[in-house]
Amino acid sequence: MPAKTKKPLRKGLCAKCSGLCCRYFALPIDTPEDWDDYDDIRWFLCHEDITVFVEEGDWYLNVKNKCKYLSDKGHHCEIYDKRPKICRDYEIETCDFTSNEYDYELHFTNDHQMEEYMKIKFGDKVLEKLERKKKRRKKRKK
Ligand code: SF4
Ligand code: SF4
Repeated sequence: MPAKTKKPLRKGLCAKCSGLCCRYFALPIDTPEDWDDYDDIRWFLCHEDITVFVEEGDWYLNVKNKCKYLSDKGHHCEIYDKRPKICRDYEIETCDFTSNEYDYELHFTNDHQMEEYMKIKFGDKVLEKLERKKKRRKKRKK
């Protein structure tokens, strides 16, 4: 998430921070409803540097990927004067450096966690059924 209050000379709190808010972005995703939807999210989580969280009932895909305009040295914004609106609107009062841990209802950091969650939500049998289906398909191809 970009920062609103980052100063080019890195004054104040931002000077003490390594640009935490410029090292990821989060996008809202559709609330999963059925097994397929959850399985799509499991697929997201098979990828590196992806997490999924739920906040106030809304689902988000979180991509840990540093903004290319965050300088390696000094951690300042290299396009400060023309940084996107979302960066300007970001509030330092509730930013990643000043706020406590996020109060997520759910937080998945890998596909195994989602698999476990799906097992609880839908029961082991659903996964077993899919496994059997997959094996049958493989056999048919031979
Ligand atoms: S444009 Fe600047 S303020 Fe916005 S995320 Fe990138 S480095 Fe951070
Ligand atoms: S996380 Fe907060 S302190 Fe760190 S750069 Fe962003 S706005 Fe500044």
